[in-house]
Amino acid sequence: MRIDVLGVGFDNLTMTEALDQGMSFLDSPGSHYVVTPNPEIVELCRENPEAKQAVNSADLVLPDGIGIIKGAAILGTPLRDRVPGIEFAAGLMTRMAKQNRSLFLLGAKPGVADAAAKVLKERYFGLKIAGTHDGYFQDDAPVVEEIRSSGADVVFVCLGAPKQEFWMRTHGPATGAHLLCGLGGSLDVFAGNVKRAPKFWCEHGLEWFYRLCTNPSRLGRMMKLPLFLIHVKQEKRKK
Ligand code: UDP
Repeated sequence: MRIDVLGVGFDNLTMTEALDQGMSFLDSPGSHYVVTPNPEIVELCRENPEAKQAVNSADLVLPDGIGIIKGAAILGTPLRDRVPGIEFAAGLMTRMAKQNRSLFLLGAKPGVADAAAKVLKERYFGLKIAGTHDGYFQDDAPVVEEIRSSGADVVFVCLGAPKQEFWMRTHGPATGAHLLCGLGGSLDVFAGNVKRAPKFWCEHGLEWFYRLCTNPSRLGRMMKLPLFLIHVKQEKRKK
């Protein structure tokens, strides 16, 4: 039932449905993981079959950003809604707080996850922060053990793509958490180090442009967006 965009299968869910599904994993046996690919990650998957496999093996694949929505529409198989990773994370924490669930924050530079934890504890009253760890470690085993002994229900894995997707696929079950979410640079945003675009830009599908203006060093990465649209148009012609 997934919608294929250049080899990546997206779940065609609204934000509410994605959150319902995410929360349902907390009471299901086993480990689950969520990925939120944007056009840059889809392009990466075209070049890296291992990454594509890790993305497509996720329990939920959510369309982060307007580019994916446009791509799916051009291909004639529209997706219903954009489900940005950071908004999915916010919705999940609102629901987790109501149930006093616990969250482990993994990733970003030293100090960032701790700063994010402080903000999130205040913002989502009732949410338990089980622990934090920065994303620049050599050895996986002690980190996995730290998460396991924290008893966290959910882990936000913010190591950048495709590292976070590989990490969740390989280590998810051993962490004992029921849900892991790959969320890129979200901890930097929660900690207040990186600002999201103002609402106007987001609502008009221009968040990428805002990020480019405020952080021009992203230009190289952003060139993947026009490339993605070219590949979508080529794919459309083949259909
Ligand atoms: N990161 C990390 N470990 C690494 C490489 C990256 O923890 O080995 C973090 C990095 O500090 C940043 C996040 O992963 O917080 C990736 O951010 P990026 O802006 O690339 O993600 P996006 O949101 O664009 O997917």
